[in-house]
Amino acid sequence: MNHLQQEVLEFRGHIARWVDERLLPQAERLDHDNEFNVELFREIGELGYISTMYPEAAGGSGVAYPYTCFTVLCEELARGSMGFAAGVCMQGSTATSTIHEWGSDALKEEYLKPALRGEKVGAFAITEPNAGSDAASLKTRAVKADGGYVINGSKIFTTNGTVADFITVVATVDPSAGTRGLELFLVDTSWAGFKVGRKLDKFSVRCSDTAELFFEDLFVPDSHCLGDGKGGGFLKAYKALTVDRIFTAALALGNAQAAYDAALRYAGERKQFGQAIGKFQAVQFKLVDMLARLEQDKLYTYYASALADRGASITTEAALAKIVAAEGGHEVCEKAHAIFGGYGLMNEYPAQRFLRDSYFPMIGGGTGDIMRLIVARQIGL
Ligand SMILES: Cc1cc2nc3c(=O)[nH]c(=O)nc-3n(C[C@H](O)[C@H](O)[C@H](O)COP(=O)(O)OP(=O)(O)OC[C@H]3O[C@@H](n4cnc5c(N)ncnc54)[C@H](O)[C@@H]3O)c2cc1C
Repeated sequence: MNHLQQEVLEFRGHIARWVDERLLPQAERLDHDNEFNVELFREIGELGYISTMYPEAAGGSGVAYPYTCFTVLCEELARGSMGFAAGVCMQGSTATSTIHEWGSDALKEEYLKPALRGEKVGAFAITEPNAGSDAASLKTRAVKADGGYVINGSKIFTTNGTVADFITVVATVDPSAGTRGLELFLVDTSWAGFKVGRKLDKFSVRCSDTAELFFEDLFVPDSHCLGDGKGGGFLKAYKALTVDRIFTAALALGNAQAAYDAALRYAGERKQFGQAIGKFQAVQFKLVDMLARLEQDKLYTYYASALADRGASITTEAALAKIVAAEGGHEVCEKAHAIFGGYGLMNEYPAQRFLRDSYFPMIGGGTGDIMRLIVARQIGL
């Protein structure tokens, strides 16, 4: 093992300990309360984990394998609570990478650095009530004005949206140009014209914050436009969303690992017909199939993150990782749920939470169908 691989292992050891000591004991309560936990979020920021992907000069931790380490972070946090992990994942990737890559020095000082320390919360909003998979049809409009832009429109399903201090909003500057007319704007949520419609209630990843947002004649100064103002922002957003698919795959891995661990423990404890249910071949085969699925999902996801660390093109691999890990994770959680029998349906046992949460990675960041469309294009279909 070389010193770089050692670095990743040590990183996993540290975050796994935090998850075991701080997150796991609170996971059920966080899910029940349906609340984004600011205290734990600040804590993980103070410990430097949110900044995992960034170089030291940007206020980051400067690790040698940033994408692999961030994948580890998402996986480990999701082993504790996928809802909590989803908020941190958004903060440490798409919500901040857009500013890191295209923001001015002033924006980096004001938003990026405090966000990487967990002092400010960020979000990224592209999805609208009538434009999900079809980003080209989004309606939020940015019109050029003196010294900036005026934005009108709405967004839905924005992770961290009700608690965010800033949001990268994707809006069209030219509705006739489809995706080529989309631009990125950094919106401070203290500005007049920004409004949280409602916090959305969900059955999955309940402790991640999910919002409906409105922009009513919201003035955004030129300094907060992350592009040239002429469009082309979607291609930038697309870049951030591509690598994010690997992190969503990692969320699925962590949740599935937690489901497997819980089912294995339960199979050793629960007795029927005078013996532990783990002695029945039907239960053993389920557990072995879960392990096989989990191991292959992990191998592929970490293959994709290693490619990203090497700077290789990952369009196909990131989409495949999301398909494989999200759908594989769901299968693992279904089997875990079955092993718990009737107790699987009881809220006091975690099997139902793992199954509920396993739906999120199949949809967040693009559905399985859209991932398949991306790969189909990549292979020339
Ligand atoms: C908990 C949660 C958090 C989220 N966080 C964010 C966030 O922070 N920021 C953000 O911008 N968005 C966020 N999203 C939105 C998410 O990315 C979208 O939900 C997703 O892209 C799907 O869009 P949609 O829900 O509008 O579904 P639709 O696009 O309406 O799709 C409905 C169904 O039609 C299928 N479909 C659509 N088009 C095609 C096609 N061309 N070919 C085949 N099948 C198709 C889909 O696969 C799906 O099964 C979040 C969503 C959830 C649930």
